[in-house]
Amino acid sequence: MQTNFSAELLATDRGQRANEILRSCVHCGFCNATCPTYQLTGDELDGPRGRIYLIRDLLEEVGDSKRSQMHLDRCLTCRACETTCPSGVAYGELAEIARNKLGPSRRGLKNWLRVFVRWLVPNASRLRQMAQLGKMTRPFIPYRFKQHIPHRIGMGVTANERHARKVLLLNGCAQQVATATTNEHFLNLLDEQGIGVEIASQEGCCGALDLHLGDESRALERIRQNVDALSGHLDTCEAIVSTASGCGVTIKDYGRLLADDFEYAEAAAMVSDAALDVVEYVERASLDLHKRDDIDRVAWHAPCSLQHGMKITGSVEKCLVAVGYELVPTKDPHICCGSAGSYSMLEPKMSDELGRRKVETLLQHDPEIIATANVGCQAHLGHRTGVPVVHWLELLACPKPPAQARPG
Ligand code: SF4
Ligand code: SF4
Repeated sequence: MQTNFSAELLATDRGQRANEILRSCVHCGFCNATCPTYQLTGDELDGPRGRIYLIRDLLEEVGDSKRSQMHLDRCLTCRACETTCPSGVAYGELAEIARNKLGPSRRGLKNWLRVFVRWLVPNASRLRQMAQLGKMTRPFIPYRFKQHIPHRIGMGVTANERHARKVLLLNGCAQQVATATTNEHFLNLLDEQGIGVEIASQEGCCGALDLHLGDESRALERIRQNVDALSGHLDTCEAIVSTASGCGVTIKDYGRLLADDFEYAEAAAMVSDAALDVVEYVERASLDLHKRDDIDRVAWHAPCSLQHGMKITGSVEKCLVAVGYELVPTKDPHICCGSAGSYSMLEPKMSDELGRRKVETLLQHDPEIIATANVGCQAHLGHRTGVPVVHWLELLACPKPPAQARPG
């Protein structure tokens, strides 16, 4: 793609990087075929190729920036287009640059929603209080928020110092409140295998939400805080493990995001290098795993952060099949479920339709349960079907009761 960036923009690292990414696009349009929003609207500007043109115009400061904003806000950042692109266009990074240029503010109700989401979601104790309030007032809560009210409000796991061998387990923000059983179950699985858990007391939000909503400086502040909180555990833990793929994908990117920060670059790269999605850790640690007796047929939904963000494909499936589960076939496994972080709250119409379609494809071959690997997908899908939706770790048998389960 041809670009015509100003000399001023090209003098910046960000301008150079955007220019490089834009120029790698040959506008073949292959990416449109796997873009969920393009499938919904059929509008070129709701597909990656169209958005790439809009981003170029935005950075060159030509064209209608309000139109660019609308179509970029509708993008899920699922990165299916990156997986499909034969030229290796780094769309996610380009979208990040464009969103930072657009900034976090919007007009009217949308702006207030964005402010509210950014105030609420990265703070687990606020989320807990809001979830309590939501449980009491559930009938009056708009649908777009209702799906996020958990049945049980979790408190996050605490450390298990019983073993010499340990991992640093991330509690996450939404995950520790909404799907607490995931980490409780994993902690018990590890305990059985003689592996303990450290918890970073100062762990905060991974920064993904602010990055996606165009506030890079706030995101980088959060990331620096997290690098301080996590790096202190690198000498005693064999890995930093995230059981929420949406957080893991961002933590793995800390090295890139802070590469120009003289003070933090080295520590951020070390944190990124030590960060593993839980399935990578399970494979690396060769854990002794077993199937649950009460379930046989599973539909697997791979979160975009796992398959397109971290490029981890086939690992969970291999693990579930190895212990004896039957995985039912699912159509379009590369397509996003519509959860996409705060997307379900900010773009509810598209999010709902994608959720509806995803559930339909997952249930096509009558699974007994749906398994996934991220808190957002779990809540989004779980709200739309009577079939249970769990984190895949919960399909690995663990005879112990959840040691750290607390009433919500
Ligand atoms: S597939 Fe890649 S090269 Fe082709 S239009 Fe999409 S981003 Fe550009
Ligand atoms: S990130 Fe997803 S929604 Fe956005 S352009 Fe790419 S495929 Fe489409």
